[in-house]
Amino acid sequence: MSIRYKFFWAFSVVVALACGLAFYGIRGISTTGDLVVRLYDGPLMGINHARSAHASLNEARLILQRSLSEGAPKETLAKYEKILADIAEDLTIVRERVKNENVTVALQRAESQLLDWADAGLKILKPPSGGLTMVPAPFSIQQKSDDAVSALDDLVEMVAAYGFDYRIQAESTVAAARTTMLALAIGTALIGLALAVAFAVSMSRPIFAAMRVAERVAAGNLTDRIEVRRHDELGRLLKSLLAMQGSLKVRADQDHALMVSKEQLARMLAALSATNEAIMKSKTRIQLFELVCQAASKGSEFTSTTIAMVKPDNDFLDIVASAGPTAETTRNIKLSINEVHPEGRGLSGTAFRTRQACISNDYLADRRGSAFHALARSDGARSGAAFPLFSSDQVTGAMLFISAELDAFTPEVVELLRRLTDNVSFALTNFDRADEKTRADERIEYLATHDSLTGLPNREMFNQLLHFTIEASQRFGRRFALLFIDLDRFKVINDSLGHEAGDALLIEIGNRLRGSLRSSDVVARLGGDEFVLILGDILEIKDVENVAHKLLSTLSRSMQLCGHECHVTASIGIAMFPADGSDIQTLTKNADMAMYLAKEDGKNAFRFFSEKVKTQSIERLMLETALRHAIERNQFTLHYQPKVVLATGLITGVEALLRWAHPDLGMLAPMQFIPLAEENGLIVPIGRWVLTEACTQNMAWQRQGVPPVSMAVNLSPRQFFDEDLLQYIDDALAESGMPATQLQLEVTESMVMRDVPRAVKLLDAIQSRGIRLAIDDFGTGYSSMSLMKQFPIDTIKIDRSFVRDLPIDSEDQAIAQAIISMGKALGMTVIAEGVETAEQETFLRDHACDEVQGFLFSKPVPPGQMADLFGLAPTVSPSLQPEPFATDKMPAERLMLTATAT
Ligand code: C2E
Ligand code: MG
Ligand code: MG
Repeated sequence: MSIRYKFFWAFSVVVALACGLAFYGIRGISTTGDLVVRLYDGPLMGINHARSAHASLNEARLILQRSLSEGAPKETLAKYEKILADIAEDLTIVRERVKNENVTVALQRAESQLLDWADAGLKILKPPSGGLTMVPAPFSIQQKSDDAVSALDDLVEMVAAYGFDYRIQAESTVAAARTTMLALAIGTALIGLALAVAFAVSMSRPIFAAMRVAERVAAGNLTDRIEVRRHDELGRLLKSLLAMQGSLKVRADQDHALMVSKEQLARMLAALSATNEAIMKSKTRIQLFELVCQAASKGSEFTSTTIAMVKPDNDFLDIVASAGPTAETTRNIKLSINEVHPEGRGLSGTAFRTRQACISNDYLADRRGSAFHALARSDGARSGAAFPLFSSDQVTGAMLFISAELDAFTPEVVELLRRLTDNVSFALTNFDRADEKTRADERIEYLATHDSLTGLPNREMFNQLLHFTIEASQRFGRRFALLFIDLDRFKVINDSLGHEAGDALLIEIGNRLRGSLRSSDVVARLGGDEFVLILGDILEIKDVENVAHKLLSTLSRSMQLCGHECHVTASIGIAMFPADGSDIQTLTKNADMAMYLAKEDGKNAFRFFSEKVKTQSIERLMLETALRHAIERNQFTLHYQPKVVLATGLITGVEALLRWAHPDLGMLAPMQFIPLAEENGLIVPIGRWVLTEACTQNMAWQRQGVPPVSMAVNLSPRQFFDEDLLQYIDDALAESGMPATQLQLEVTESMVMRDVPRAVKLLDAIQSRGIRLAIDDFGTGYSSMSLMKQFPIDTIKIDRSFVRDLPIDSEDQAIAQAIISMGKALGMTVIAEGVETAEQETFLRDHACDEVQGFLFSKPVPPGQMADLFGLAPTVSPSLQPEPFATDKMPAERLMLTATAT
């Protein structure tokens, strides 16, 4: 019940009691008053009226006595009657007021006495209801008065006695009323007190209970609870307090949980920072894995922290590190990345495949890890989380955290672990980058020290190796050989078959060299077609010779290059340590010199360094220096060799052949300086001079009366690929005034084959000017007749080497024959070079060769002698110097001068 109502009820009860008491008290008081009233109204008034009646009677007696003596005047009688009426009235009042039997008897007696008395003197009138009626009549007062008085005295006494009793009765009634009032007041007070106590108790108990609850709450005790049965406000207050306690408990529990989780997070943060430190400290991946696992398990409450990395071509992960109380068991588990295997369907496998964190906060209830449930039970694992590890955006492994607690992986923990694993991934990526950089550095180092084409050490590396070899050989008193190898005619292959074939050739040569030597020997490529070898621990020179022979034969073995069978030879120069030099520069320079001389000696040979070699090399160097000044010093001259038509014996043209009048060495043949000029680029200005000079000479002859002849000029590869070639051909023709049709340019197969489209374009441009084109030294290159068809060639010159052994050598016969017939078939003019004998001439004539050129008819001769051949006075072009070069004149009958058929 509500306190309001309780209070109301208690108040009502108290008020009711008070009211009852008051009522009772008032009633008691009124009874007392009533008694008093009644006493005064009744007995006391009766007494008074009885006394008054008595007094009136005495007064009446006196009056009667006097009237009797005086004769009862009328007034006295009236007065007497009035007194009697008063007495009667008093007695009536007494009768009304005093209800007492004795009094009634006394009253009746008094009345009767009075009646008697009145009868005696007075007329007594009886009232209808009885009683006294004053009747004025004469009576005998004497006789009757005493009885009346005595009756009235009695009456007075009776009434007084009655009044006295009545008073006692009234007083006792008042006293009883007062006692009752007091008892009621005390009772009411006691009830009020009891109610107040009950109310106070009823109020104070819940208040104390509330106080206790509040004190408990204040003291932090949120668990003890009290039972509340009350339903009033205090009950509700208590319930509210308890509810508050409950919510405070929930809050406290939450706070506790939060604190616990904060603590856990703090530990995790510590672990995170420890792992960061581990990551910073780690120098290797293994160190990283170990340190990270240790740091993560030390800071946290995980039973194990494990890192498993993917293995190449393997479904199972490699457990690279594990830490924590159950690490030993974890180390031995099998984890897979393939869900085909039960071990691949767990947290790690899932994280690996999905590339996302895989969390299980109730591990044993999670079907994913069923393969590991038995182990989890024995290890006490209750929750787990696996995170993928990345390395350069590739998943390379997984990090697995196991906890003995359920729901250990709250979102905050997961977030921290994700950051932790992100850091590990970052470190792995850094390791990758570092590896990549190391590889790149190694590659750079490798590229810096190795030849990218053959994979052999390059010049720099070779110098280092040579340096070490020199030091070691000096220390142990050993000898070693340094071999410089240069391929012969590599340029021809490169030019004719292209760079691709050239590269393939160099690779093959590198392999052959490497394959021919001991692994302790050094093989390096210095660039181009230059290879260099170090043959260590040489006891005998003979051993070096044997190796050189072996190398020459190995290198000369045929090989297939771009579908062509090729034969390559090499020239080798050898310098011995310490005899030919004890330092890098001297040794390499001397081996190089020896190699050049081996080349000059005819190639496909080796040569040891010697003082003679040195001298020759110095000469070569001097030659190069002199060559640079040859044009400006007018040391060049042209010799001309006629070409004779076999059918007619007529000279149809001449070939201009360069000679160098060296001031010290005398007249030098082209092969003594043209390769050098080709090598250093001087051939371009020299060739330009030749072209202009030849055209000028031809026009000089013509001015002397010689019929126009074809002037053949040789082009070198460098010239052929010179951008300005067409320009200076045009210049030469314009300068000399020679018609283009009289000019024939000789190119070789290798030149045109090197870049066929370009060659076709260039040759077309040359031909379009009316200039004729011849393929020189045909048969020595790598072209085919079918390819020749593409070029606007009108003449082929069979190389001297196929003519030399004609007609004896059957192979040469076959080749010469084939070239002639193919040339003819293509509508070309076929010229044979180097015809020295009549037999050769006969063979060629018999096989329908068109023209011949050779010593049989004339050696190349200076222009003056050529004039003889033309049958002119010996005049030369103004720029030409007198010819000291010996020329055998051919029999005049074999030569006939004729005009060139253009
Ligand atoms: P080539 O163009 O094939 O010239 C023919 C060479 O054969 C000439 O040698 C000539 O003297 C020689 N010869 C001609 N008939 C006979 C013979 O019956 N027997 C022998 N044993 N040799 C004969 P030479 O003058 O020494 O020229 C050699 C090569 O030098 C030329 O071969 C040509 O390729 C090159 N050459 C000559 N002059 C020039 C030039 O002005 N410019 C360029 N680029 N090369 C030139
Ligand atoms: Mg020629
Ligand atoms: Mg030739």
